[in-house]
Amino acid sequence: MSEKSPKLRAELDGIPTYKPGKPAAAGGPVAYKLSSNENPYPPLPGVLESAVAAAGSFNRYPDMACTGLVTELAERFGVPVEHVATGTGSVGVAQSLIQSTAGPGDEVMYAWRSFEAYPIITQISGATSVQVPLTPGDVHDLDAMADAITERTRLIFVCNPNNPTGTVVRRAALERFLDRVPADCLVVLDEAYREFIRDADVPDGIELYRDRPNVAVLRTFSKAYGLAGLRVGFAVAHEPVAAALRKTAVPFGVSQLAQDAAVASLRAEDELLGRVGSLVGERKRVYETLVGQGWTVPETQANFVWMRLGEATARFAAACEQAGVVVRPFAGEGLRVTIGEPEANDLFLHAAEAFRKEL
Ligand SMILES: *Cc1c(COP(=O)(O)O)cnc(C)c1O
Repeated sequence: MSEKSPKLRAELDGIPTYKPGKPAAAGGPVAYKLSSNENPYPPLPGVLESAVAAAGSFNRYPDMACTGLVTELAERFGVPVEHVATGTGSVGVAQSLIQSTAGPGDEVMYAWRSFEAYPIITQISGATSVQVPLTPGDVHDLDAMADAITERTRLIFVCNPNNPTGTVVRRAALERFLDRVPADCLVVLDEAYREFIRDADVPDGIELYRDRPNVAVLRTFSKAYGLAGLRVGFAVAHEPVAAALRKTAVPFGVSQLAQDAAVASLRAEDELLGRVGSLVGERKRVYETLVGQGWTVPETQANFVWMRLGEATARFAAACEQAGVVVRPFAGEGLRVTIGEPEANDLFLHAAEAFRKEL
């Protein structure tokens, strides 16, 4: 065999590989997965039925334009169908957004720490990441971000609420920021956790995008809607951004199962959002219990909590696993814990109480 191997792009060197949330341990005593911000509820009956029905024709390619889903979304949000672009999860759409705007020599900006996919998809494109540290309170530092814009900045992610900290930026601050961003630079409001927000001062990105051609909103069916495994997300953006997303999307990327299940989820929204309400109730309980135990936890508007534990992070993650819950550690920094079913949250809270006494 030849010693030579195919030449790969230098941009891929040293790429941080995406670390998926650890699965719940197989064969362990109990195993709740609180590591990937998934919805703990199984699919709603109607949603499952439409996916199963669609499975009957998976010898056929799906509708490439996602016509049914796009029409439903456009109606639901009161936007033109031309402004809706779908993709293989909102990460797929985010990757298309970068491919549409940035390449070598360009800059993609985002807060750090934020969503782990941003550095990876930026590096793949050959563009340069500009990471702007969160404030000491773990919130986006929008003034510092605006100050860091250069003539090479092509795209800025604002993750609201931020993954993994759960913190939000509010209307006045976000509007002031958007007013400072040049019109030829795209701002992507990543609202993967939009449905969990209960703070009325957090703006709906779809309201902000309407009179701002350089704002795009990312949403997903993976979190509140409980379709993480089906890979479907979407952007709402003006032309020509939405058109560029349709050009760069993986052809036939969104399966018919995913399209039909997403439509069924939108139609079952009342029931789904009821479940989201229960999770928000659990979030409050988890947050307040942790604070009562003496932990400092940033206020969260998402379906997870963030604990900045520094050097104790790995030890606490191991203690949680021992207690039967898998969480998401960021070594040396902190730990993100998804709000799950009440039993899982209880196990986590007991582990936190015990660990607090050990510190
Ligand atoms: C989970 C998540 C997504 C959604 O990813 P999908 O590809 O839609 O499953 C997007 N952005 C953030 C910040 C997330 O945490």
